[in-house]
Amino acid sequence: MLIRRTAEDISQPLRRTVQVAFLLLNLWIGFQFYQFVRQFETGVWRGWQRPAGVEGWLPIAGMMNSKVLLLTGYAPEVHPAAMVLFLVFVTSSLLLRKSFCGWLCPVGTLSEYLWSLGRETFRRTWTLPKWLDIPLRGLKYLLLGFFLYAVVSMTVTDIEGFLRSPYGLIADVRMLNFFRALSVTAAIIIGLLTIGSVFIANFWCRYLCPYGALMGLAALLSPLRIRRNKERCIDCAKCAKVCPAQLPVDRLTQIRSAECMACMSCIAVCPAEGALAMKLPGRKSRIVRPEWIAAAIAILLVASVTTAKWTGHWETPLPAHVYQRLVPLASETGHP
Ligand code: SF4
Ligand code: SF4
Repeated sequence: MLIRRTAEDISQPLRRTVQVAFLLLNLWIGFQFYQFVRQFETGVWRGWQRPAGVEGWLPIAGMMNSKVLLLTGYAPEVHPAAMVLFLVFVTSSLLLRKSFCGWLCPVGTLSEYLWSLGRETFRRTWTLPKWLDIPLRGLKYLLLGFFLYAVVSMTVTDIEGFLRSPYGLIADVRMLNFFRALSVTAAIIIGLLTIGSVFIANFWCRYLCPYGALMGLAALLSPLRIRRNKERCIDCAKCAKVCPAQLPVDRLTQIRSAECMACMSCIAVCPAEGALAMKLPGRKSRIVRPEWIAAAIAILLVASVTTAKWTGHWETPLPAHVYQRLVPLASETGHP
């Protein structure tokens, strides 16, 4: 028997709130870091401290430090926050599917704004034909494979040598400089990705993001799944139409795909009560509500960062005179 939905679905307003909060947090971190760097470029000290959270943008350093932690049992001193945040995001994927991409990642959020703009403007988004879509989706795994190979092939000594080199110490400043002084090639690539994102939902995330690829692989182990109850489903296909990952939600009984980012958009549009839900495994599986996902992400993030701060595994203890020496030369500092 079909029972119409009565309760208001809060998943999308809640998810967008979490996305905006995390985007604003990242903008604030970026602004603080810019001010911190400017002090060493201008020689005028204005009291800005380096926000360690900027290391969330150093996922390779996060992978390297996680390897050192795994093999030696101790956390490296340089860029420990990169490791903490990397492990938090992988854990969130292991527990809550690829929620990092659907709820947190600022690039994913901007990408969602772009394709939403495209959909508002053109009343649709486009999909690539399967013969092109499938090989292109493999690109992000190739990029991930390249980075994983680079990290796996380094010894602990190599990693420590790399991260303690001038290049490794100011990898964050180099990243800032990359965006401050975009080369023509980088500007063209970013421009093309931006235009592509207006027409194709999650263009960057779907085809090119190696971090998202890693989160998707971790999410395959997550106990949470979107599950469809065939008895309650009225086969309207609204779920499949709205899915930004282009998954055939209306034809499957559960979504196992590494592309599912736990955005819950499919549940939000489903008109049939009890037909679609995010659930834990088991025959009498429990429904996982969006507020639980938001709370779990917040608790995981806050608890991990707080613990890292208390135990001294958050800040990179680099004296100001080292930044004073390295920051003005950041753009000329070569790879070791
Ligand atoms: S299946 Fe549902 S939760 Fe997963 S990406 Fe598609 S719309 Fe989002
Ligand atoms: S939105 Fe999907 S799950 Fe819900 S009734 Fe329509 S086809 Fe079935």
